[in-house]
Amino acid sequence: MKHLIRKDFLKEGYVFATRAAEIARAAGGHTRPARLASNENPYPPSPKAVKAAADVLPPHANRYPDETNKEFIDALKKRHGDYRFVASVGMDGIIDTVIRTLIADGDQVAVATPTYSYYGLAVQAQGGTTVSVPRKADFSVDPEAFCRDAAGGTKLAFLCTPNNPTGGTTETPETIAAICENYEGILFLDCAYIEFDGTDYRPLMKRYRNLIIGRTMSKAYSLAGLRVGYAFVPEWYEPIYQRAATPPFTLNMVSQAAATAALRDTVHVKKIVSVVQEWRQRFIDECPYPVVPGGANFVMVDVAPP
Ligand SMILES: *Cc1c(COP(=O)(O)O)cnc(C)c1O
Repeated sequence: MKHLIRKDFLKEGYVFATRAAEIARAAGGHTRPARLASNENPYPPSPKAVKAAADVLPPHANRYPDETNKEFIDALKKRHGDYRFVASVGMDGIIDTVIRTLIADGDQVAVATPTYSYYGLAVQAQGGTTVSVPRKADFSVDPEAFCRDAAGGTKLAFLCTPNNPTGGTTETPETIAAICENYEGILFLDCAYIEFDGTDYRPLMKRYRNLIIGRTMSKAYSLAGLRVGYAFVPEWYEPIYQRAATPPFTLNMVSQAAATAALRDTVHVKKIVSVVQEWRQRFIDECPYPVVPGGANFVMVDVAPP
């Protein structure tokens, strides 16, 4: 029956990191592995988030969740200011939905590489193709080269900052502004790790109609298991996104309750971020291999033999 299947789904899909328990089992149980490959937060989420998730479950599980994610979006407005937001099942859910609004068979998407592999897979699943826009030797992005390489027909571009997996590169708001000025498609700025860095791109949303900023509750907020992402979107684009957002991609009520409470608990996230920053610096200082210092909750280490 395989001839019926689209060829995009007959090749390799997203490669998930091996679970820590599986590594331990393979090693005969005599080890306590630390799973680093997914850049998860080793600390538990805010106790307020855990309580909010538990509280919502017994009384309301018989009803469908609020597809407008109103509670969470109101909390986002309180936290960030008067921007337009959309929320989904992880930032990955947003990436997928954004791609669906723009990309159909044969359309092209620019990706600043090397970077997060999911963009390419999601584009492929929609029948599009990716154009690789190589980063410079230090893994930063040259806005002029970016616009030149991304020009000529790409409708959408993905740029991750701080970049996964190179870590060391956080683009300045000026670089992002220069790209927004000169790129004719929509720029999706993936800020999965931005809380660990602190660079503020939010004001750019007021200036550019072709910028989407993706964020996640999976990393700094320790909610990877509940799958919550959100994005700042241009005003004109919000209703279009909402039209494309399908029921499986809205937040479930447990995720929404937890994410809302986590976002409100600014004391907790600040504490976690400062612990991660402190240990990042200790790791950089003491690592025996060359390290590319970076703004994420991970760093890139050069372990190649000299
Ligand atoms: C972790 C990660 C995401 C998405 O995370 P979700 O769990 O789907 O919110 C997106 N982009 C990058 C670069 C990531 O590392």
